[in-house]
Amino acid sequence: MSCRPIKHGVFACLLAVICCSVALGQKVRSCANCDALNKAQPPFRIFGNTYYVGTHGLSSVLITSPAGHVLIDGDLPESAGQIVGNIQSLGFRVEDVKLIVNSHVHFDHAGGIAELQRRSGARVAASEWSAEVLRKGGVGKGDPQYGTLTPIAAVKNVSAFRDGESLHVGESTVTPHLTPGHTPGGTSWTWKSCEGAVCYEMVYADSLNPISAPGFRFSKSREYPEAIEDFEKSFTFFESAPCDVLITAHPEVSRLWDHLALREKGVKPDPLVDSAACRNLAENGRQRLRQRLASEGKQ
Ligand SMILES: [Zn+2]
Repeated sequence: MSCRPIKHGVFACLLAVICCSVALGQKVRSCANCDALNKAQPPFRIFGNTYYVGTHGLSSVLITSPAGHVLIDGDLPESAGQIVGNIQSLGFRVEDVKLIVNSHVHFDHAGGIAELQRRSGARVAASEWSAEVLRKGGVGKGDPQYGTLTPIAAVKNVSAFRDGESLHVGESTVTPHLTPGHTPGGTSWTWKSCEGAVCYEMVYADSLNPISAPGFRFSKSREYPEAIEDFEKSFTFFESAPCDVLITAHPEVSRLWDHLALREKGVKPDPLVDSAACRNLAENGRQRLRQRLASEGKQ
């Protein structure tokens, strides 16, 4: 699901509740706004060994090492070919992707993982809740948007990790941080990337927006009773996480395209580097949850 910032702290959400999987010849559409989400985006280096390989509407990040690569998020089912093409046009081999991980198991971030795994042979790792959804396919019980989401294809060879357990591929280490609330299994990722002596703390942030299927209440849910507590835990993580470069699962939330345009104009220091970005993300998330709970209180 997509949320774009209008101004500080205010977001407009494109709630694609009318989702469908329609086979149109070879073309599969997963949702009403999927063509916009799947718009092509030339890949580029974010910093050091970290590259953006996603679509214009959905992030996917490649962290490279001589002994193999990590890919975060597979986007839509129809994004898989584009992500493979982006990896190749940067000069990397998709077969060298050894590990695929995910922010959350909605069709717009995990829908392409089955195909990307088939093309790369990579193993897939996820939080326990997300791993179960990936193995079975479909939509997880307890998901606030249960009933309105396009199911995802089942994924093979999925292992579960613990919160904070570092995962290694070659010289690359990525660390998962459970940031639930948007889904019960939501995960954000941290790693370090360097260019010469300059190293940055990189963060790939999961969605923090409290949106749901009609009738679901974050304040009183039998299916997901710890939803508010989970969001609080996620906000606390972002308030204290070492964070120099933030990429969000929906790129416009961290204003990636604005920052990239400034960088391409030669603006210095690098507009993608902002050590306050994670704290701002947490603050926006808190504000949106407060608004959501206030609106539930009036129902
Ligand atoms: Zn989502």
